Amino acid sequence: YHAKRNGLHFSFFDIDMDRQAADRVNLENDLRHALATKQFQLAYQPKVDVGQRRIIGAEALIRWRHPERGAVSPAVFIPVAERAGLIGAIDDWVLSEACSQIGRWRERGLDLPAISVNISPAQFHDGRLTDKVRAGLDTSGLDPTMLELEITETMMASDVDRAIEILGQLTAMGVKVSLDDFGTGYSSLAYLKLFPVSTLKIDRTFVDDLPDDVKDGAIISSIIALAENLGFAVIAEGVETPAQARFLRERGCTAMQGFLFSRPLDGEQFARLLETGIDVLESFGP
Ligand code: C2E
Ligand code: MG
Ligand code: MG
Ligand code: MG
Repeated sequence: YHAKRNGLHFSFFDIDMDRQAADRVNLENDLRHALATKQFQLAYQPKVDVGQRRIIGAEALIRWRHPERGAVSPAVFIPVAERAGLIGAIDDWVLSEACSQIGRWRERGLDLPAISVNISPAQFHDGRLTDKVRAGLDTSGLDPTMLELEITETMMASDVDRAIEILGQLTAMGVKVSLDDFGTGYSSLAYLKLFPVSTLKIDRTFVDDLPDDVKDGAIISSIIALAENLGFAVIAEGVETPAQARFLRERGCTAMQGFLFSRPLDGEQFARLLETGIDVLESFGP
């Protein structure tokens, strides 16, 4: 039918587009069922401080185990969920599941660091984020300082005043906010000083080619200096090698997250890691 639709031209591009479109529709349909049938899980990736040699937090990352496709990356299905208007329900699930998990860990007497949750643009803008966060904390009886939200610079761009207001409400509650993927989005330094966030999270694209890439190194050093001068904490994501970690530390960034320290873990594995600690941290001197 391609030939018919395009006159006599036969195009691989169109076949490809059709397949992609069909794939997306299938994925959408499957996503609709995934929540109801409990196919989602949260994984938790530790954030560490190599100076203090301890776990200082963890990021909750959604996982989807599709009955036929197996694991589908959030980088793939989150955008699909956004376009299909399904992101709201997924976001709600993530927030409430993270709060319940923190509650379950606390019941076991674990000494927990703050747990971060990624906030989607839709969730940030729908006007109920503050209420939902408060509800999640209340239902689980959690201290707001146990929860951190990760937002991106781009979310702030469309309505800066409104964004500052939302962030103000969240931080007034005691919830911490960090700017995820920092350096890759639309960031105006003029606005940065107005954002009530606690942490800049350096995007892993700047970390990947350390220590060899001189320009990435310069960008990292600048972000670290910027954070320090504006009173933000700074953390680097995607740290995979000891050389990357050393580079970051030498330039004053001791907070890190990445496969060097741990992959994202399920709730049980993360609880055990909290008790045993992370071996590789011992290789960092005080
Ligand atoms: P992100 O928030 O920047 O999360 C960090 C991503 O980097 C995660 O991918 C994590 O597994 C990966 N990562 C961590 N350490 C390393 C490393 O050393 N090397 C490499 N190559 N990768 C590392 P993941 O879990 O596939 O998530 C991708 C993105 O999907 C996230 O980026 C975030 O934007 C989004 N996402 C994940 N979970 C959620 C969620 O619950 N809600 C929303 N709204 N978005 C989510
Ligand atoms: Mg994140
Ligand atoms: Mg990130
Ligand atoms: Mg990222």
